[in-house]
Amino acid sequence: MNDLKKNLKDRLKQAGAYVVGVADPSVGYEHAQKGRHPLELWDRCRSVVVFAVACPPRANNIYLGPLAPWEGYRNIGPAPQYVLSDEYAMTRLSILFLSSIAMKGMALLSSKGFDVSFLTPQLKLSAYEAGLGVYGRSGLIIHPVLGNRMNLGAIMTDAALEPDLRLEGFKPCENCDLCIKACPAGALDPVKKYPDSYSQERCTAKRTEIVNRGLYCHSCFAACPVGKLGEEELLSTSEVKGIL
Ligand code: SF4
Ligand code: SF4
Repeated sequence: MNDLKKNLKDRLKQAGAYVVGVADPSVGYEHAQKGRHPLELWDRCRSVVVFAVACPPRANNIYLGPLAPWEGYRNIGPAPQYVLSDEYAMTRLSILFLSSIAMKGMALLSSKGFDVSFLTPQLKLSAYEAGLGVYGRSGLIIHPVLGNRMNLGAIMTDAALEPDLRLEGFKPCENCDLCIKACPAGALDPVKKYPDSYSQERCTAKRTEIVNRGLYCHSCFAACPVGKLGEEELLSTSEVKGIL
């Protein structure tokens, strides 16, 4: 199984993943949302393979691009209409890119006789359990090199791969409160730890208000100073550059 894990990690990295880890779905996952625990989604799951693609803020999947400013365009349908900006295009492409990496990993596992599931478990929690990073005060997963500037993907398989350990000892938030100060909703508690520190209600209300003004809130994401790579380096570490 160790050989399979190594081959899988190499394959995913070759396809564009910056970092790959494995979580055991029967260990941890204490804070899984109802219906998002890997074993609730697929009771034969033995391993969750999690990978991260480096991405700069403008390619992150939380950024939707500006709303179309002209009324005629809005009248096309009931849903908000977003301008097809290059940021929006990068967002969509980065999601396709994650899928293409996952498909390559699934193909390898299938070729070795293992089953995979197309369902996706709770991604941030899986990344934490697989040792890709720790929860920051913002609730975003922080990787030592990428910071929060990454997109996550996961593959569930019935192959029992050796799990990786949580990243113990990495404490990026000890002397920092930039995301708390940057949040316009006061959704991040300065004292409590995630998930108790994060108010989904306040965040969602503020994001809805901001989206209705034609913008999108990712202040907590943008404020975080962790990570050693600049925007250009982040772009060049992934095939997002190739897609562009
Ligand atoms: S997305 Fe905006 S409102 Fe929500 S926690 Fe981050 S900064 Fe606050
Ligand atoms: S901005 Fe500071 S406190 Fe917030 S997640 Fe990043 S390192 Fe932690």
